[in-house]
Amino acid sequence: MAKYRKKAILVEAVQWFEDGDHPNVKMIPLDRFENRQGADRRCKRCELVLDGIHGEIETLEGVHIVCPGDFIITGVAGEHYPCKPDIFKKTYDNEKTRTPDRSFLPEKVVEELERHIDKIRYRSMSHLVHVILLEWVEKQQKKRERLNNRKSQEEKTNEAMEDD
Ligand SMILES: [Zn+2]
Repeated sequence: MAKYRKKAILVEAVQWFEDGDHPNVKMIPLDRFENRQGADRRCKRCELVLDGIHGEIETLEGVHIVCPGDFIITGVAGEHYPCKPDIFKKTYDNEKTRTPDRSFLPEKVVEELERHIDKIRYRSMSHLVHVILLEWVEKQQKKRERLNNRKSQEEKTNEAMEDD
């Protein structure tokens, strides 16, 4: 099977905790479930009481319950949908603080990058990549020179042995 990478799409998102955090999330009124008892009055996902703490939002698939801490994502068509914070953090990077895509770099460079990244403050990520790429190219050149030197030395010894 071929492999596919999901295209990077910029979305807006807000973490919802209480009334007012997102214009489309309405609080579930306190009396909505007043006839329910115990577990029936609690959210199946986070186990907190539904009314007074949870919100609800209109999505393309109908009304969804919003738990405190859920992210409300605004999709490409302006639609809203809630997302659990653990899933959100796995799926989305903050555009301002994200690490640039490094999959195009040679593996060795990425290793170097990760070794340096916490130690040195570079002017920018692209500067860091530039510096490390240069180091890597230099290292490769030195390796090649060393190999060539060894080869020519071997050739010399071979010639000397043939002369004997
Ligand atoms: Zn909940």
